[in-house]
Amino acid sequence: MKFLEDIGSCDLVDLALNTGHLKSVKAYGNHRQKTVDILGGPRALESLSRREIIEGLRANWLSVLARANTLPVKLPGAIQLLGTSRKIEKSMEVFENLYSVVTYLAPAGSGFQKGSTRTLCPWSSRGDISKGEPNCEVPCLGLNSGRMRMSDSQKARLWKTALWVSEKAIFRELYRRELKALERKALANNGIPMVRFDGTSDLGEGLRLARTEEFSSPSSSIQFVDYTKSFKRAMEDHPGQFTICFSYSGSNAKECREVLEDNKLVSIVFDRNPRKNEALPKTCRVAGKVFRVQDGNKHDALCYHEPGAIVGLSFKAAKDRKGALAASGSFVVRGKGKHLSC
Ligand code: SF4
Repeated sequence: MKFLEDIGSCDLVDLALNTGHLKSVKAYGNHRQKTVDILGGPRALESLSRREIIEGLRANWLSVLARANTLPVKLPGAIQLLGTSRKIEKSMEVFENLYSVVTYLAPAGSGFQKGSTRTLCPWSSRGDISKGEPNCEVPCLGLNSGRMRMSDSQKARLWKTALWVSEKAIFRELYRRELKALERKALANNGIPMVRFDGTSDLGEGLRLARTEEFSSPSSSIQFVDYTKSFKRAMEDHPGQFTICFSYSGSNAKECREVLEDNKLVSIVFDRNPRKNEALPKTCRVAGKVFRVQDGNKHDALCYHEPGAIVGLSFKAAKDRKGALAASGSFVVRGKGKHLSC
């Protein structure tokens, strides 16, 4: 129950209501009513134009923010949920026919008001590094430090997070339309559209989308890729157009070995400085068994990686690499020898 509230997922609340695990959620009822208000009455979202949806959002933005309980942020002039990154651009340089996009939300609890227990990364770690415990939040959120003066990309993560938490149905409808536009553009150019939903979150929305009738039909060409720290999600059966990579957290080596032995991907972050072109190790011992390491720095197109092998990533930090590395604890695999292990 606490988990349901923490991630603020209407779908999970729906599920809990339907299965009788949850008797009633007053706030959830209010939430539904607010969606109706935004749409200007009980109208089917699909029947509204993008302009109508966005106008409704703008008119009600303060109430969306208040219900999301995120840090305050303005809705920008241009509403675009799909984004890009240097890594995504690199993917399109490596595979010229790829039309790749990513979504960035505010990682873990970084987008929420102080005191909130909500998180977009239910499996993130924030252990005590003095005890050698893993901590992925500090180096990840380190990229977003300085909340008083937010960069444009931080603001973008924040308004998308508020929309996701507060108005999931609207977020999904706008997202679906952007995906369809991406697909049309890729098809017109004989390309392959590829999307990573959880760029800086771990919500599993990419897998949900890949399972929908619309995106699992043979006529859909969108490839979905995602990283996760959810062992369950990594191990379950996936549709053909979905590729997942389980992330080493610093304390899940046994699970990583199981995922690799199941012929799936596992990502591991190594203490290698990409600015100094430090090469990744060729192999790594995971819970006692040696696996090949492939270069995950070159592109993010997970479906083109060799299954059953490690996707090696070099540890990057926007600033203060030394400090961020120290703060990451066992999340980053260190050492220069030939036989690194985790
Ligand atoms: S590293 Fe991944 S799981 Fe950890 S806080 Fe960042 S996005 Fe979330």
